[in-house]
Amino acid sequence: MRQFSVRTQARGQMIDITDRVRAILRESGVASGICCVFVPHTTAAVTINENADPDVPRDILSQMDKTIPMRGDYLHGEGNSAAHIKASLFGASETVFVENGALVLGTWQSIFFCEFDGPRTRQVFVKIIPGG
Ligand code: ZN
Repeated sequence: MRQFSVRTQARGQMIDITDRVRAILRESGVASGICCVFVPHTTAAVTINENADPDVPRDILSQMDKTIPMRGDYLHGEGNSAAHIKASLFGASETVFVENGALVLGTWQSIFFCEFDGPRTRQVFVKIIPGG
C-alpha cells in the first residue's frame, strides 16, 4: 500500500488527486488490475466526478452545504456532524479499473479528495491489485 498527504485550505474543498494516483500506478508497474483509493478519515471522503469545469465541484460543495447545513438538530459534541454526514454520503473509497497500465476513467472524470472539515492535513491510501 502507498499513501500521500493532502493539505486542504478550506472547510469544504474538492481536490483533484488523479495525477498522484496515476504516479503511484506507474511506479507499481501493474498493467491490469484494480486500483483502490481509500481515505482513513470520518469527515473527508473520495469521489469521482467532472474535472473539466471547476464550477462542478463548486456546485457540489455549495449544494451539500444547503442540504446538510452546519447547524442542525445534531448531538455530536465536536460540532462537525455535517462533515460526518457528508463523508458518509460520499464514502471513504473508490475503485478504478486498471487496463494497459492506465486508470480506466471517463474523459471528464477525475478522482477528487473531498474535505468537509478543513483545513487539515489528510492522508490518502492507494492499493494497486494486479489481476484480471
Ligand atoms: Zn466529529
